[in-house]
Order: sequence, then structure tokens, then C-alpha cells
Amino acid sequence: MFDKILIANRGEIALRILRAAKELGIATVAVHSTADADAMHVKLADESVCIGPPAARESYLNIPSLLSACEITGADAVHPGYGFLSENARFAEILEEHNITFIGPKSEHIRLMGDKIEAKATAKRLGIPCVPGSDGPVLSEKEALKVAQKIGFPVLVKAASGGGGRGMKVAHDAHDLGVAMATARTEAKAAFGDDTVYVEKYLEKPRHIEIQVFGDGKGEAIHLGERDCSLQRRHQKVFEESPSPALNDAQRREIGETCAKAMRELQYAGAGTIEFLYENGEFYFIEMNTRIQVEHPVTESITGVDLVCEQIRVAAGSPLSMKQEDIQFYGHAIECRVNAEHPLTFRPSPGRIAYYHPPGGVGVRVDSAVYQGYAIPPNYDSLIGKLIVHGRNRTEALMRLRRSLDEFIVDGIDTTLPLFRTLVRNSDVQNGVYDIHWLEHFLATGGIEPGF
Ligand code: ADP
Repeated sequence: MFDKILIANRGEIALRILRAAKELGIATVAVHSTADADAMHVKLADESVCIGPPAARESYLNIPSLLSACEITGADAVHPGYGFLSENARFAEILEEHNITFIGPKSEHIRLMGDKIEAKATAKRLGIPCVPGSDGPVLSEKEALKVAQKIGFPVLVKAASGGGGRGMKVAHDAHDLGVAMATARTEAKAAFGDDTVYVEKYLEKPRHIEIQVFGDGKGEAIHLGERDCSLQRRHQKVFEESPSPALNDAQRREIGETCAKAMRELQYAGAGTIEFLYENGEFYFIEMNTRIQVEHPVTESITGVDLVCEQIRVAAGSPLSMKQEDIQFYGHAIECRVNAEHPLTFRPSPGRIAYYHPPGGVGVRVDSAVYQGYAIPPNYDSLIGKLIVHGRNRTEALMRLRRSLDEFIVDGIDTTLPLFRTLVRNSDVQNGVYDIHWLEHFLATGGIEPGF
């Protein structure tokens, strides 16, 4: 096992990793920018190192600074969390070259899945169902039109290096296609430095359902069921639950087993998420994330497995601590992503938290790194915490969610809590009948009352 882990992240996920390391008896090193000197992960770690100024590219994305921090502190492993360098294959390689373990998959798998075109081709080869579309990159409007005519409009032009919902444009007809190609390319070039795009069928009313997988890197792999992340705004997840209200046990077993088998074949190591769109009873692969996900606690709640501890164990060379038949799904879990944003305009709302009271009680988990008096810096993403509830069934989980949302107080800044208070009382959400466009439509039609 490792002696000391450096956590190359901030916020709630840094705290989450710190807790796992402490339970395993491993010493922890926090890193932070000058804007994060007062952050909770810095206060709770055994040691901390300032790695640079507020801008992420000069601190949390600064590989030489992170390497120096490892060297100064003698850390023998790095956990990257999510975002930042978590899916940077080069970072993983550089660490290995310095005899420091990257707590994550092999760099070849990070690279493979980081390119959506290659990822899709690999998924297809491994027997995972995919969205119909171009076989590879699409270089011209003419080529895009040929693909679109074959699969039928509407189509989606997507960036090969895409992420965070950027570089994606819908085209409803041939006329739209030229504009969609040009804007997707420009956006992709600006955001990812790569304007390679591909085309796939635009599914009109799908759900987003993803499968959590875990591999030991030597050919053993299991799945831990699904998460339904269909409630999205701007292609970004807002509310996640497991099990999905749309799946039955047989479907879960079948898609889960398909994914686990693919991971065995790849000899995948560590935690991964295979994302699908689900429409009319069919799954369509969209991408694989080779890291821990924001929404991992819903899976932890219904399986009882600590996914971050498992990541650390596997990275240290241990076998998986459970077999597929050991995984039992119990009850229902829901997560709300609480952002420091205005609940109607979604304008970021950094600043000082004047009063903070998180909910508690049976089946309630709050993963957050904020505290009363803490000033949220304006430099990073606006997620300030996650509220996760667990109940014996979906009805109980929803009752618990309503109660804990009403108890949650964050004063001094705007948060998205009022949005969730409205959602939990909505009959479509209560009945589980929503697709990936439901929330946008709800917001556009004034679903949330000002001043709620
Ligand atoms: P990113 O890496 O930017 O998050 P994804 O490929 O995971 O991109 O897609 C993010 C979201 O975009 C999905 O959850 C879904 O809402 C939407 N999306 C992606 N592909 C399609 C598609 N073929 N048809 C309809 N919606 C899509």
C-alpha cells in the first residue's frame, strides 16, 4: 500500500479522496492555489503545498509544480479526482516516469477514451452498442451530408476531443449542416485546440444512463449498475439517481455484463464510466470517462462499495475487493449538485458564506468542502457540494430529498437549492418520466417561480 498520497485537486472531491486515504491509513498531501489557502482540503490534509497562482493552468494544471510538490513531500501516489488532470494521459505517464503511481487507469486507456472517435470504434469492436454515425472524422460538409443522408436527419456534429457538453451542434436539415459543422469546429478549436469533428444520429428523446465499471488491470472487471443522469442543463448533469426509473433488472444485468466483459477484454484498471443514451429500449454508447465521476456517491449508496478506496487499492496492485456476485443493489439513491449560482439565471455567485447548515439524519450524505465564513473564489467551477439521499425505494428517497433540501441553508451567496426544491415537488420528476431535454424545457417554460 502507499505511504503518502498527493491529491491533485480541490473542493469536495479533494475532501472525498482525503477521507478514503485516511481510512486506509495513508498520509495525505493537499495542493492548492493562492486563492485556496483557506480551503477545507488544505486544513484537513496532513501536509499542504501551494502550487501556484489562482488561474488553474498555473496551479492545478501545472504539471512541473505538482511534480515538485510530490518530490518535496515524498508522495508515492497521486489521485487526480475529476476534471483538471484526471484524463490527461501525459500526466499519468510523467508520474510513472518519476516512479509515482497515478491512481487511475493505464495511460493508453486514458488516451484511447479521450478521443471520442477512437473510443467509439473501440466500443464497437468490444460489442458495445453505439449511436449510428460516421465511421471516423468528417472532413467536409459534403462528407457530413453523405453520412446524414444515410442515417437520416437530425444529426449531431460532435468534437472528437469534446467535453463538458462543448463543441456539439445539432443539424435538422441539409441547410443547418454547414453552419453546425463550422460552429462545432470553431468551438472545438477554441476549447480543445483540435477541430476534428464527427457526425452521429441526434436522438430526440433519450435518457442518459451510464454504467459504473471497475477493473483490476489484469483482466478481471465488474459493473456496479447504472446511474440515470437525464436531468441536464446545457448537456451538463444536474440531478442523478440509481437505479434508473426506466430499467428493469434484466436490462441492467445485460448492459452491465456487456460493459464488464468489454473492460475484461481491455484489461482496464480502476474506476470507469461507460455513458449511453437510452431510447426505445436500446442503449447507444456516447463516451467513456476514465476517472471517478461527480455522481459516484449514488452508486456507493446503493452498493455499499467505497469506490475511491477501491481505486486506491487497485492502483496499489491489490485485486478487486469484490466479485460480481457480491454486488447487491439495495434501495434507491438520488444526488443533487448544489452550485453557487443563481437558481434562475445560473449566473455564478462566488463570495462569502454567511451561514451554513447542511442537512443530516438517516440516509442523508453531504459531500462538500465549504463551511460558514468560507469565501468561494471566483476562479473555479461553481459546484460547492452534493446532497445525496438514500431510501429503501424511490418514494422514500424522494421524501428524504424533500426534507433535506428544506433543511439545507447556505446564506450569503446564491445557490441552486431552490431549483431542486421545485424539482422534487414536480410530478414528472416524482414519476421518473423525463428525458435529457426535460429540464431545459421546464426552465424555458417558467417552471421555477422567482423568489421560491
Ligand atoms: P461531453 O463529453 O461533452 O459531456 P457527451 O458525448 O458525453 O459529451 O454528451 C453529453 C450530452 O450531450 C449527453 O448526455 C446528451 O445529453 C447529449 N448528446 C450527446 N450525444 C447525443 C446524441 N447523439 N443525440 C442526442 N443527444 C446527445
